Amino acid sequence: MNNKLCISSMTPSQLSEYMAFLGQPAFRAGQIFKWLSLGVDSFDQMTNLSKDLRQKLDDACYIEMPQLLRKQVSAKDGTIKYLFGLRDGNSIESVLMEYKHGTSICISTQAGCKMGCIFCASFDPARSRNLSAGEIIGQILMAQKDSGRTVSNIVLMGTGEPLDNYDNVMDFLDIVSAPGGLNIGMRHISLSTCGLVPKIDELSDKKLQLTLSVSLHAPNNQTRDKIMPVNHRYPLEQLIPACKRYFNKTHRRISFEYAMIKDVNDSTKDAYQLATLLSGFLCHVNLIPLNKLPGSPLIPSTPANIRKFQEILNSKGINTTVRRSLGGDIDAACGQLRRGKSSL
Ligand code: SAH
Repeated sequence: MNNKLCISSMTPSQLSEYMAFLGQPAFRAGQIFKWLSLGVDSFDQMTNLSKDLRQKLDDACYIEMPQLLRKQVSAKDGTIKYLFGLRDGNSIESVLMEYKHGTSICISTQAGCKMGCIFCASFDPARSRNLSAGEIIGQILMAQKDSGRTVSNIVLMGTGEPLDNYDNVMDFLDIVSAPGGLNIGMRHISLSTCGLVPKIDELSDKKLQLTLSVSLHAPNNQTRDKIMPVNHRYPLEQLIPACKRYFNKTHRRISFEYAMIKDVNDSTKDAYQLATLLSGFLCHVNLIPLNKLPGSPLIPSTPANIRKFQEILNSKGINTTVRRSLGGDIDAACGQLRRGKSSL
């Protein structure tokens, strides 16, 4: 298996090149790509290919398909949390959510995260390997197969830092948005980052129409340093200008995520400081009541406090929403995915 190629990690153009290499006509790439996007897990199922070609592919390639290890369904809102097993023994979680406008999936990009945000369960440096594009898309294919639903929106907000796995995530975006496959448009995709500045700049050059969410969580370096170690590397005076460059290049509004943590980042002073930090910048602030992690001393801000915080931002002209949390009863809410032993 080790020396086989992962065919489901190939972008449409890589698949075309591969077909050319095998001496196949160009249309084969489209046929195979379509089968893969339907979630087939063997070449035998690709019935419009000759037996000979199916055998050749089977000898040289494999199809990545995460194994369904566990499924939990929220009694409150029908949200489904999946635990998928990978071929190296790692496991990852994905969350399928039902909204009025369609079905969203929150997927993981790394088997564990190395970023170390103190409020997040996904920190697990020992298992921090990058997922391949096939493993990322496989989460969507498996969730669709299991639930019978069709995913219309994707958020790259599961375990891992997507921009720390930049190349595979870019290949994934190419695969998932291709018209011959799942064909999910970039405007239906959100990518969330803790703020890797050089990668934000690299991404901005691609001028993709996806929504970039930036996990801000603090209005000043002093607080952000304490809760997000990445801030030591890329402090606010680097991050905010990078976000502005991103907006200027893509004309896409950035969505700043701000988890409201009682007595950490939720004072009136914090709200005014945040308004000043973002003043004049056409963006959106998404306030997320902190989801509690077992054993963590951090607790969410009170609803009254969140409202007050929001009012201050609104009064300063900053566009703000409070995120509705789904799947809290099955630990499927933001930051609750895959709590590793080494976290907190
Ligand atoms: N690494 C990326 C994406 C994964 S986390 C990032 O940092 O953006 C997705 C979002 O959930 C981030 O905004 C993250 O900061 C937030 N989050 C993490 N833990 C949380 C918690 N306990 N409560 C609320 N939001 C949390």
